[in-house]
Amino acid sequence: MADFAYRLPQERRLVTELPGPRSAALTERRKRAVGAGVASSVPVYAADVDGGVVVDVDGNSFIDLGSGIAVTTVGGSDSAVVSAVQEQVAHFTHTCFMVTPYEGYVAVAEKLADITPGDHEKRTVLFNSGAEAVENAIKIARNATGRSAVVVFDHAYHGRTNLTMALTAKNLPYKDGFGPFAPDVHRVPMSYPFREGMNHDGTAVTGTQAAERAIAQIDKQVGAHNVAAIIIEPIQGEGGFIVPAPGFLPAIAQWSRDNGIVFVADEIQTGFARTGDWFACDAEDVVPDLITLAKGMAGGMPLAAVTGRAELIDAVHGGGLGGTYGGNPVACAGALAAIARMEKLDLCGRAREIEQIAKSRLNAAAADIDVIGEVRGRGGMIAVELIQPGTRDPHPEATRAVAAKALEQGVIVLTCGTYGNVVRLLPPLVVSDDLLIEGLDVLIGAIRAVADASILTGAAR
Ligand SMILES: *Cc1c(COP(=O)(O)O)cnc(C)c1O
Repeated sequence: MADFAYRLPQERRLVTELPGPRSAALTERRKRAVGAGVASSVPVYAADVDGGVVVDVDGNSFIDLGSGIAVTTVGGSDSAVVSAVQEQVAHFTHTCFMVTPYEGYVAVAEKLADITPGDHEKRTVLFNSGAEAVENAIKIARNATGRSAVVVFDHAYHGRTNLTMALTAKNLPYKDGFGPFAPDVHRVPMSYPFREGMNHDGTAVTGTQAAERAIAQIDKQVGAHNVAAIIIEPIQGEGGFIVPAPGFLPAIAQWSRDNGIVFVADEIQTGFARTGDWFACDAEDVVPDLITLAKGMAGGMPLAAVTGRAELIDAVHGGGLGGTYGGNPVACAGALAAIARMEKLDLCGRAREIEQIAKSRLNAAAADIDVIGEVRGRGGMIAVELIQPGTRDPHPEATRAVAAKALEQGVIVLTCGTYGNVVRLLPPLVVSDDLLIEGLDVLIGAIRAVADASILTGAAR
């Protein structure tokens, strides 16, 4: 990103205590106006975002290692995205594609057919949110197969609507008290190398073995011929940036194909250059039947998609899919511009550089910080799993403390994981090397400080 022109100074700059007075005042207003069920990771309010920084309403400039959860891959105010959106908004904001169609929707569908895995005939339907895309992928799979069962994995996250809550693994905060959930959803074991048992002979469980374990459970508990779809995140997001062992995804995809099951890759978090390829499936040449997309796709505009095999998607009767706002023209303009930026700036290559920078620093730190259990991930999707020293027991208290300490020093990092013990890095892929390294050094300092604080050691608990 050496000669990339940023609009805002790419710097970490704290000018008030945190939160500053304006953010604190907004928090007071918010308490009286906004539902308490919507939680925010940080207590400061955004005023301006560009490249790798978020500037708050008090003038503090934070290094952004979260991208609003992998959304602002091209930055929060990329000039090409801004112009494309302004141009579209000046002409029309909405007609409803189901009433009067427009070119942007068609162009996004063409582009997605181009860049998603596989060179078969494809179709696309656009939606507003990731959860809505997932719901529609399941509708399409059930309609095409005439079957109803859906298979999902441990640690999975697929959204917060009723069907996607059923697909999501974690109770708190996503499901607790919100049942009953949609039926005929079956959960099977994931491949999670860091928390995987060993074979009897002491060798590590391979990806193929983990796939066989999941498949055996589907066969015994559901029956392959009842399964409409298997849906999986190729690298799990909210569940803890879990990268399955090599061979796991290809084996599940192949078994799905052999049994007439629709294999759905949920690439809502991993898609669009994030993992160093256009899509995370590309790393093992896995070709999903359907792929669900959102987050990084449209430069921050709300847009989601289901793209996949023409014969599956076209099997749905006219009017069976859609939505008032789905494929909004302003969001489509944002997507076309954001995807063009990813191509022009080679953000896939940039994600691989970010992986190298982040892993080399974090692995070096892991050698002498005993709460770091594992550093993992791919491209610009990197995780640090924190443990009680000397064990593999999760350390969620340390994880919360690390995120808080990093924020105190001007770095926004997110946490995740079934056990709440994973620090996850999702920097905008246009972040500069200098800013990224500064952010990583602050993070490593925060992990070191927390590891040293006796109150958080295993012995003190
Ligand atoms: C964020 C996410 C979703 C849900 O997307 P929303 O736009 O929040 O509805 C679904 N699947 C994965 C893998 C996600 O990361």
